[in-house]
Amino acid sequence: MRTLVIATLLGLAAPLCQAQELSPIQLEASAPVDLGSAPTKIPVKPVAFDVNAIDKSADPCQDFFKYACGSWNKNNPIPADRAAWGRFAELNDYNNYLLYKDLIAAAEAPKSPLQKKYGDYFAACMNTEAIDKLGDQPLQPDLKAIDEITSVKELPAFNAKQDRRGGGAFFAVAVTQDQKDATQQVAATGQGGLTLPDRDYYLNESPRFQKIREGYVANMVATFQLLGDSPEKSAKEAADVMTIETALAKGSLDRVALRDPATRYHPMSVADLQAKTPNFDWQTYLNGIGLGQAKTVVVTSLPYLDTANAQITDANLPAIKSYLRWHAVHNAAPLLSKKFEDLNFDFFNRTLGGQKEEQPRWRRCTAITDRALGEAVGQDWVKQNFPPASKDATERLVKALEAAMAQDLQTLPWMSPETRVEARKKLDAIADKIGYPNHWRDYSSLEVKRDDYFGNVQRSSVYERHRNLDKFGKPVDPTEWGMTPPTVNAYYQPSQNNINFPAGILQPPFYDVSKDPAVNFGGIGVVIGHEMTHGFDDQGAQYDPKGNVRMWFSPDDLKKFKDRSECYAKEYDGFEVAPGQNLNGHLTLGENSADNAGIRIAFQALQNTLKEEGDKAEPGYVDGKRDGYTPDQRFFISFAQVWCGTETQQAAINQAKTNPHSTGEWRVKGTVQNFDEFGKAFGCKKGDPMMPASGGCRTW
Ligand SMILES: [Zn+2]
Repeated sequence: MRTLVIATLLGLAAPLCQAQELSPIQLEASAPVDLGSAPTKIPVKPVAFDVNAIDKSADPCQDFFKYACGSWNKNNPIPADRAAWGRFAELNDYNNYLLYKDLIAAAEAPKSPLQKKYGDYFAACMNTEAIDKLGDQPLQPDLKAIDEITSVKELPAFNAKQDRRGGGAFFAVAVTQDQKDATQQVAATGQGGLTLPDRDYYLNESPRFQKIREGYVANMVATFQLLGDSPEKSAKEAADVMTIETALAKGSLDRVALRDPATRYHPMSVADLQAKTPNFDWQTYLNGIGLGQAKTVVVTSLPYLDTANAQITDANLPAIKSYLRWHAVHNAAPLLSKKFEDLNFDFFNRTLGGQKEEQPRWRRCTAITDRALGEAVGQDWVKQNFPPASKDATERLVKALEAAMAQDLQTLPWMSPETRVEARKKLDAIADKIGYPNHWRDYSSLEVKRDDYFGNVQRSSVYERHRNLDKFGKPVDPTEWGMTPPTVNAYYQPSQNNINFPAGILQPPFYDVSKDPAVNFGGIGVVIGHEMTHGFDDQGAQYDPKGNVRMWFSPDDLKKFKDRSECYAKEYDGFEVAPGQNLNGHLTLGENSADNAGIRIAFQALQNTLKEEGDKAEPGYVDGKRDGYTPDQRFFISFAQVWCGTETQQAAINQAKTNPHSTGEWRVKGTVQNFDEFGKAFGCKKGDPMMPASGGCRTW
């Protein structure tokens, strides 16, 4: 029931994690546990602007993705333990390997209380012998609590108790910024409760999705049997879950509808909410989660209220208990013994994602520790991997991009002077967050035990839930980060009008101090432009400089802007990512707009730099070229090479259905087709696929 909406560079939703001071605990000698086998294959550090990635047999004007990435894609097939592989994953693996070395050192010989904490968290995850011995035992208290429910009247109190641990059914509340008054933290409730990736997976009648549903039911049956239920009981339970989830899917808004801030905003008094959903006692639930004083709840999906309420009847109680039992075991499966983990992997990764093998344990435990204690682990990581010079250099790049965007606003052909002034105000108000937080999150209240993996993950979940609920009624903290420092991603937060670049992405292939400005503007420069211009995409443009949803376009400009945005939607609707599966132009509209605006602004910033710095901006160039390419060509190749990579057919379908980001190939081809400077740089002819005669689409 996520209500937080942030625009990211990739579709990997990062849970909000946080950091803190060293807690005054005594360091004890760490109990020896088997820390698993060391990595057999050491990830290599990626390079920016890789000449060897280029496929010179391809024609850049016909298919620029193939040209810039053809050789890389050929030489880097998807590993068996992935559903997709590309430059983001390559850097992510490298960052995680460096993190792993910190974790293993901390697990063996911690040098501070904080290292002891994250070392123990990692060690508990690596201790598969202890985890296997426990089987499903850690889950038993949760299953017992479900078993003991005798009436749906108990659900609000049950949800309040369980949802800190990721349990509960139908309704939940989280604290989020009020979209009409971004200074306020309010209670909000949304839709949710599905296991498959999207409502369409339940409702689409094509054979592809029918087959997925059959596989899902079979997986549930097998999982219930693993818990000891009889084959008959397991089949009944799986059917119950499918009935409930299908009903919830039908009553949920689709992802395109949810992108509209107006659709997502229905503040209701608790009394009105209660009248709409008489089967769920909201005051009991709110009291239970410590928000008893809330007078208003923002509802983000109106149709879901009726749908979920209709499920909550005593006649339906046995089915609800099957549903709760399923969600409990499904959520816990990766934390239980190998049998549960393997069964869960078999359907949710192998069938749904096309991933053949599990990732090695060390890598999964590194990611899990980063997710739980990211701002603890990150403190040491940034010291080693993000020198102050990188922060300074990134700040300079951001300033160059902001100046180029200001120029763009002045010269934009379609915008009236009044709207131009408002847009400039918004641009000037953007706050930049680079590398890592100024204040680290305090994890002192999170208890970590070296021999309790399941408990550690549950306590982390409670910690995060508590941190969220604790914000109610308090001032918004704009210094908080939504991604951990080693993360290879970036985001724009519309409700705070800020751009965020974790240290993890400020590395090759995005940024390399030894490379020329053309390469860095094409890499991290386009990323910065992308995040900045999210403030001006179809969604971001509805937020004012302070993060409130308030229209600042003149009506006439709004119409022009919408017409121009529709051009992108149509264009990307036409891109096929897997046989019979096209991108959804409206789902990906915000991201595509940001890609298209971002590249223009980064290109302009490069031109400014080349003009201002002359030869200094062309180090290693001979007769205006380096590696045989002009600065403009290097810019576009560097941009495209960030997106080198491929995905399984299943992953491509999943992405098209659920992810607001287009796949890498179309992020490259869609963008360059709309920007004549690309065609000019490579000597394309008007009418070539990468330089359409129409000139393509443009908003900013
Ligand atoms: Zn984005």
